[in-house]
Amino acid sequence: DDGPDRPMTAPSPLLPPLRDVIARHGLAASKALGQNFLLDEQLLDRIAAIPGDLAGQTVFEVGPGPGGLTRALLRAGASVVAVERDRRCLPALAEVEQAFPGKLRVIEGDALAIDPEREAGGGAHIVANLPYNVGTALLVGWLSGDRWPPWWQSLTLMFQREVAERIVAAPQSDAFGRLAVLAQWRSSARIAMNVHRSAFVPPPKVMSAVVHIRPQPAPEGVRFATLERLTGAAFGQRRKMLRQSLKGMPGALDALERCGIDPTRRAETLSVADFVEVARAIGR
Ligand code: SAM
Repeated sequence: DDGPDRPMTAPSPLLPPLRDVIARHGLAASKALGQNFLLDEQLLDRIAAIPGDLAGQTVFEVGPGPGGLTRALLRAGASVVAVERDRRCLPALAEVEQAFPGKLRVIEGDALAIDPEREAGGGAHIVANLPYNVGTALLVGWLSGDRWPPWWQSLTLMFQREVAERIVAAPQSDAFGRLAVLAQWRSSARIAMNVHRSAFVPPPKVMSAVVHIRPQPAPEGVRFATLERLTGAAFGQRRKMLRQSLKGMPGALDALERCGIDPTRRAETLSVADFVEVARAIGR
């Protein structure tokens, strides 16, 4: 530690401050692309530390923008494969690549349309500060499927705080729903850091939080698709009793009974383990 005299933003070696990069490349934030940039390099270093020691590790970064988080990941010793949709950012990212030769590969494109495992390779850590709708869609995609542990080693993702709270929610709370079950039934999920809206340029309307997710051993005999359908039906009408909300799902009410779960309960009163047990009893 350099002590209290350390400047607020420690520039990367050989790289100008992010504010200058944004000005020089004319990277006015685009609302349509959900752009809110992080410029404080100390904050970015703290985010880059969340996955643990990244020396020699590969990181798949979604939406690097002007490259603030990318620089922090590279400073932490990672190799980074990044996918960015906004081609205006590519010259700024090329400068980052020059400062860390051979350590950064940028793919121009839509993160929802590429195969990240093929691009980044197995065992990569995924890190992203993304627009909220894209982030949730990608998260569910990364949590899906029957291959577990998955190809990625960890997820470190910035969300609106309200969405982050839904991901880590416990039963009996308003935030508990499909997202919590899908994120927790075979992973650990926690809020690693709250981020104030004023940390972003421009500041968004709401607060943010970084969620960290790690795969855990999967319960046996449960298919992801079954659990997804079950939670979709159960929380689709969350105010209703399960005997009502699960009516349309073949085998679900039978399974509930076999698990000894009272069908007059509402979805948010079941634990993650209860949902796993019912999905297993449905069996398809
Ligand atoms: N990582 C930078 C930071 O922390 O300052 C930028 C964050 S900004 C909230 C989100 C970035 O994701 C933008 O650069 C935007 O262009 C990019 N983006 C939005 N949708 C995308 C998509 N579908 N695929 C890849 N990048 C996307």
